[in-house]
Amino acid sequence: MAEVSISHPLDDYLRKGVLPHIWCAGCGYGVILNCFIRALHELEFNLNDLVVVSGIGCIGRISGYINADGFHTTHGRALAFATGVKLARPHLKVAVISGDGDLFAIGGNHFIHAARRNIDVTVICANNFIYGMTGGQLGPTTPLSAYTPTTPYGSIEHPFNLVYLAAGSGAVYVARWTVFHVRELITSMKKALQRKGLSFIEVITPCPTLFGRYNRLGSAVEILDWLKVSSVTRYHSNPAEAEITLGGKIIVGEFVDTEKVTYSEFLRKMTEEVQQRLEKEERRTLASL
Ligand code: SF4
Repeated sequence: MAEVSISHPLDDYLRKGVLPHIWCAGCGYGVILNCFIRALHELEFNLNDLVVVSGIGCIGRISGYINADGFHTTHGRALAFATGVKLARPHLKVAVISGDGDLFAIGGNHFIHAARRNIDVTVICANNFIYGMTGGQLGPTTPLSAYTPTTPYGSIEHPFNLVYLAAGSGAVYVARWTVFHVRELITSMKKALQRKGLSFIEVITPCPTLFGRYNRLGSAVEILDWLKVSSVTRYHSNPAEAEITLGGKIIVGEFVDTEKVTYSEFLRKMTEEVQQRLEKEERRTLASL
């Protein structure tokens, strides 16, 4: 009997040799990976023009699963590596996909300065409210009162409001979705990948194994339902009013969509001007000999 080979239209976007993935059943990271490769597919993106950079954490494996050049970097340094790649190879699209702890605790400084400089990278933050890979500890986005192994009486720290932080730091495109909003997330990813400058998407994603269990949110399906019923979609609302609280509404949508000169553009212009000045000085020196 002839052998039947089963293929999928998105097969080319995955390094199938390293699958199956490491993520728990019900984790939202598979949805983020799926949306990202679908966005690439819909854009007919040439994978040779893409570099995916990730940091440490469960989501960090994503750079190895996508069939493009990638860096799985040290903790918190994804944006530092991404900035280096972009400056060395300005024609490449650089996407950073990492977690809330990696990008906003250990890597917080890199994020605000990359956004301030308008480095031309797309940053996708998978926000599960905790450090998943190391056991579910409190992170910089853990909501007030939430339980984690390191906050057994509930968190007493105000969390970062990531969309407000990104907007205030200068990102040119800022959006937030949950893994329930797959169509909107794909559309946002396509926009972000085409945007010049630092584009930022926060994706609220369930960690049923740790955050869900500690906060008694139920099964993976029940957490997805919680994200669905808690979300309110608004476009161009004030990011300052989009803080996430346990039991409150989660404002999703696009918050910032603008344009401004990127760091690479300033650098190219400056390099050309310096080159012209040096050539002029050299001609003047030669003429005077
Ligand atoms: Fe996902 Fe949480 Fe499992 Fe990590 S521990 S793979 S974040 S469900």
